[in-house]
Amino acid sequence: MLIASLAVSVAGFGARADADSSNSGSGIKVVPTGLIPLYPKNYDCSPLTSLYASWIDIDGTKRDEQHTGVDGGRIGEWILAPAPGEVRAVWRSNWGWGWEGSLIIKHTRDEAGADEDASFYYSALDHLNYDEIKHFKVGERIGRGQRLGRVHRPGGVSDYLPEVHWEVWESKNDNIKWLTNEYGALTWFIPKAQLVDPLAMLQITSDSSETDKKVKIVPFTECEARGECRGFTYILPCKKKF
Ligand SMILES: [Zn+2]
Repeated sequence: MLIASLAVSVAGFGARADADSSNSGSGIKVVPTGLIPLYPKNYDCSPLTSLYASWIDIDGTKRDEQHTGVDGGRIGEWILAPAPGEVRAVWRSNWGWGWEGSLIIKHTRDEAGADEDASFYYSALDHLNYDEIKHFKVGERIGRGQRLGRVHRPGGVSDYLPEVHWEVWESKNDNIKWLTNEYGALTWFIPKAQLVDPLAMLQITSDSSETDKKVKIVPFTECEARGECRGFTYILPCKKKF
C-alpha cells in the first residue's frame, strides 16, 4: 500500500534489472569481486548457490546478464536480517517468473558496519512469498537476525529451484524511485546508487583480509554468542555442529 502512492511509470527508462530477471541490465554496473564464501567448519550453513557477478544461474544455465546479487537457501528456511535497519519497502513483485514478494531493508552506514562514504545500505530480497511478508510496514525497525520470510521459489513456481536473491546497494541518499516494469509490477532504483557484492559486506564483519578472496561467513548465531555484532551477518541459517 505504501508503494502504490510512490509508483511512477516512466516510459523509456532502462529499468533497473533485477537480479534474476531478464529485464534489460542497462545502467547496472556489476563489477566482479572474485569473492567466495568460506563457511565455518563448526557450523552447517545453508549455502549460497550463485554468487555475485556470476553468469551461471542456480540451475546451471547461463544467465542473460551478470548476477546482481547472491542466491541461496533451501526451501522453507528462514531468511535472517543481516544487520539492524528498517523496512524501506515491501511489495508484490514480478521479475518475469510470476508474482512473488520483495522486501527492502535500509541500513545506515553504522548499522552496516561500513566506513565508506555512502550513507545508506539496502538489502533487497526477492523471490519471497508476498503473503508471508505483507505484514511488514514501511519504517518498521528490524533487528539483526530477525526472521524476514522463508526461502521460496521465483514466482512461487514449483518448476523453479528454491532460492532467495539478496542484493545490496549503497547510496549517499535515500531517494528511491519507482517504475512499472514490463510485467506490470513495481521496480525500484536509486539514482547514483552502487551495487555491492553482499560478500564484501560480510567480509567487513569477519575481519577477513581485504586481499583474501575467501570471505569467512559469520553466522548470526555465532555473532550473537560472542555478544557483539558488527556489520552484516549471514542471512541463511547455520546450525552448530556438535
Ligand atoms: Zn539472484
